[in-house]
Amino acid sequence: MAVGLVKTPIESRDNPLQKPLQYLKGVGPKRAELLGRLGLFTPQGLLYFLPRDYQDRSQITPIKDVKFGSTATVKGTVLDVGLKPTRGRRTLLEVLVDDRTGTIAATWFNQPFLAEKFRKGQEVLLHGKIGSYKYLQIVNPEFEFLDEGRGDLTARGDPPKADSRPYTGIVPIYPLTEGIGQGYLRRLAMRALEECVPYLEEVIPPSLQRLRRLMPLQEAVKEVHFPASMEAMRRARKRLVYEELFLFQMAVALRRNRVRQEKGYAFSIGPNVDVHVRRLFPFRLTGAQERAIGDIRRDMESPRPMNRLLQGDVGSGKTVVALYAMLAAVANGFQTALMAPTEILAEQHYRTLGRYLARARVKVALFAGGSPRRKENLEALAKGEIDIAVGTHALISRDVHFKKLGLVVVDEQHKFGVLQRAGLRLKGQRPDVLVMTATPIPRSLSLTLFGDLDVSIIDEMPPGRPPVKTLWVSRKRLQEAYEFLRCRLREGRQVFVVYPLIEESVGARCNVPLLRSAKEGARLFQKYFPEFRVEPLHGRMTSAEKERIMRDFRERRIHILVSTVVIEVGIDVPNATIMVIEHAERFGLAQLHQLRGRIGRGAEQSNCLLLAEPGSPEAKKRLEVFTRTNDGFIIAEEDLKLRGPGELFGTRQHGLPDLKVADLVRDLPLLVQAREDAFRLVETDATLKRFPTLKGRLQGSSVGGLSRLGLASVG
Ligand code: ADP
Ligand code: MG
Repeated sequence: MAVGLVKTPIESRDNPLQKPLQYLKGVGPKRAELLGRLGLFTPQGLLYFLPRDYQDRSQITPIKDVKFGSTATVKGTVLDVGLKPTRGRRTLLEVLVDDRTGTIAATWFNQPFLAEKFRKGQEVLLHGKIGSYKYLQIVNPEFEFLDEGRGDLTARGDPPKADSRPYTGIVPIYPLTEGIGQGYLRRLAMRALEECVPYLEEVIPPSLQRLRRLMPLQEAVKEVHFPASMEAMRRARKRLVYEELFLFQMAVALRRNRVRQEKGYAFSIGPNVDVHVRRLFPFRLTGAQERAIGDIRRDMESPRPMNRLLQGDVGSGKTVVALYAMLAAVANGFQTALMAPTEILAEQHYRTLGRYLARARVKVALFAGGSPRRKENLEALAKGEIDIAVGTHALISRDVHFKKLGLVVVDEQHKFGVLQRAGLRLKGQRPDVLVMTATPIPRSLSLTLFGDLDVSIIDEMPPGRPPVKTLWVSRKRLQEAYEFLRCRLREGRQVFVVYPLIEESVGARCNVPLLRSAKEGARLFQKYFPEFRVEPLHGRMTSAEKERIMRDFRERRIHILVSTVVIEVGIDVPNATIMVIEHAERFGLAQLHQLRGRIGRGAEQSNCLLLAEPGSPEAKKRLEVFTRTNDGFIIAEEDLKLRGPGELFGTRQHGLPDLKVADLVRDLPLLVQAREDAFRLVETDATLKRFPTLKGRLQGSSVGGLSRLGLASVG
């Protein structure tokens, strides 16, 4: 037999790492079910189940030196065990322990069953908080026996296990669920380490392990559970975080590599086209816009399909950049599609394009749900008579046919439709894709979320726009605020008022400080400002109603627009220079930022007034950050810190990987390294011939939920 000579890949059903946890000693069906609640199903899962914290028991304090109120580990001999009834039918277990420097009483309330575990003369290790009630106590401590095999380790209420062993060094603290104690999990982790660690295979190429000074995998897994020192634990953790991020970035790099090999259109964008397009813009482009256009030109001229993210704060001028790309495609005889997340926005884009293209011979059509010319437009589109089709994401639906679609611009605003991008590619055409997003995405997120896209950032605002001033107004000074509004209104400016709800509901039912709705708010504002026209706008209106109100507002027939967050995305009315956000404490940072982006779009000074109750400390922090800065990137970073990426984007449908070990906020530097390494590796060997283990891992498992996104397949 050639055992030991030829290393055969371990089939997953035979792989001890992948067996159901139930086969591990000490796990029955019932426990297996409980462990499942922690997301633990296999020994591998257990090995990668990281402690949430550690307890350093390596320092043993002489009993004479323990300090009241501190947490300490002491070691000594059991002198006496006593069980006393106390008031209210409670029991108090007292175990006297002596270490020759002094005596301490370990005390447990209401756990009489622990009494039988202790015998005089036993060597015991105790870890807990030092108290004192008549005499020195260590309260409700974790404990383990040092001189024999019958200790319960640390679990309170866990049945004793014959084979448990003492851990006196740094001890892991795991996240728990009901019915699963620390001691039990520790024993289980220990067992999984003993039995399964030898089967763990390195997936990171040796050259990278050297480059990044990574701890070997098997060692890292051991050290992360039962570290020799806190320093070793940090190195172990770093290694596991790197591995997770590396696998994720490998999948991204491979996918990108595949896309790059696809054949797309090579547009020709010579000086002639360039001059013609620019002639349509009534202003000089900013440096940032120029750089983005430079990137886009290079992408479009290359035969590979473009896959670019255009990232820039609201009002930074992305639309113009996208228009440049669209017109360049049209000049090459192609059609383009511009897709927006909502109908209102699609209509607005349509109108904006119409303004820019008034003097151009470019045919633009709007594909909105209820548009009367839909059928004719569809036919014209299929015949190639329409150059630019504007609509919602429904534009990629099955009944829409383009004759020669060369470029798709997706205005994502702050909704990230990774899946929609995937859908585009299914249409049998290989158009260039430009995704615009108004949300300044923290770097760590854009590297994961849009990891396979190239990114251009517009980090400069068009000139002549004073930054918005933001004020948090207390209810006491409401009158002043209203007078300020009146002044601005008399000067001819317009006002947005935003409410979090459509109708009076929460406030009425619960005991929340009166929370007004947009409708109610509109009535109120009309009362305060009888000389101006106030109208509500909210999501429950029909598109026709919304459209009429937006038109009246744009044409200054409405002075105060009281709305729900429907105005959040992309509405452009430069004469509206004031925004009042009611119950601002109820909005997330990203949303507040989006809202504020509706003003400050002209040469006038704009003001944003936040009417907010102090609310929770977190809400307070949010509002403070928000009043302090207009910089979308800072706001996005803060938002990420405050809420975490999952909540920020609602993980699943937005395509964030479910990372188990890595934290996108904390581990950004490692993410950047892992990305560099993965991309370099794919550049040198996209087939991964030299890295069969890595290849197997990427093919087989769902690395960070990648398979869900269809990202994980290795070509
Ligand atoms: P975004 O799409 O990034 O929110 P837009 O493209 O809608 O920004 O631009 C916001 C406003 O700024 C528009 O009114 C637009 O006409 C104007 N604008 C864009 N670029 C410039 C520029 N370079 N100089 C002056 N105004 C500009
Ligand atoms: Mg825009």
